[in-house]
Amino acid sequence: MKAVSVVPRQPGSAHCVDVEPPPRTRGAVEVRTLAVGVCGTDQEILAGLYGAAPAGAARLILGHEACGVVERSGGGFRGGDLVVPMVRRPCPERCPSCRAGEADMCVSGHYRERGIKELHGFMAERFVEAPAYLVPLARPLRPVAMLLEPLTVVEKGVAQAFRLQRRLRWRPRQALVLGAGPIGLLGAALTRALGLETTLWSRRVNPSRRAWLERIGAGTLDAEACPVEALAARLGNLDLILECTGAPPVIVGALLGLGANGVCCLLGVSGGEDTVQVPVARWNLRAVLENQVVFGSVNAHRRDFEAGARHMAAWARRWPGLLPALVTRQVPPEAFESAVARQSDDIKTVVRFAE
Ligand code: BGC
Repeated sequence: MKAVSVVPRQPGSAHCVDVEPPPRTRGAVEVRTLAVGVCGTDQEILAGLYGAAPAGAARLILGHEACGVVERSGGGFRGGDLVVPMVRRPCPERCPSCRAGEADMCVSGHYRERGIKELHGFMAERFVEAPAYLVPLARPLRPVAMLLEPLTVVEKGVAQAFRLQRRLRWRPRQALVLGAGPIGLLGAALTRALGLETTLWSRRVNPSRRAWLERIGAGTLDAEACPVEALAARLGNLDLILECTGAPPVIVGALLGLGANGVCCLLGVSGGEDTVQVPVARWNLRAVLENQVVFGSVNAHRRDFEAGARHMAAWARRWPGLLPALVTRQVPPEAFESAVARQSDDIKTVVRFAE
């Protein structure tokens, strides 16, 4: 079968290759892949900065934003069911989080992730998976089901922010989202759906992104017109910030712009060693005097997948066409290398295996 794989830590090694189909395993569900999204993490793997192949293998099959169709009934699924696989698997030593079914909070760091770290991913014509790691999705969501995984990243971040804020009487009004990639846009949709006034700030605001945000009732600020340091003065008390760029100067802007009793969720994975100056005393003074929280969030729990699946179904009714508009490019696996090599302003590139 066709699969897209890389030699991790070797830039430019991605190819569409022919591999043996995965062996059938007792109790596992066989899934025919429909489509797999490409994200910033994949780009880091492609650039040789991130990722690890399974033990004993030279190459890693990419892909963690997948959706597919169950081939034959079993494990609680029926043939034809639309499913989305989860990404992370528990660490072998079963740290307390992994033992409790919260591998997204793994303490040892020895968790494995399909398509990223030590386990093959889903960018192949077929994959097999344990039923516990497959999330069912309503069939009408088929064209956009590969967006569930990136949505779960913001579902977890926002849910955690609300949990943290149970420490006080929190009535958030104003959300700021930094970054207009898929995570930022999905984050803005989620904060709007939760009833927050939402503004998205980015360097990459173009007419189609602006129109997308207008549809969900979110405002847009262009980085050229409003530097990140000026956001708080412009927008008022920032109750919730979702930092989705991972860019050091933007992170500093988020820390300094957060409002009283505010919470800032860091979602961007930053590669490299970039350094910026941070006025720590100024930041610390406000963080202390204004009871702020800054936290990082990665990956997602099954409950975040289930919340995301519910939100996707609700948004399809409330904002028809909104999620499909994020999938701006679809390529066959054979075209993967040339497609990802080309710089573009696409929001989400998807590798399409079947309709
Ligand atoms: C994935 C997460 C993963 C993280 C770090 C993200 O792109 O969506 O599931 O935990 O990368 O590897």
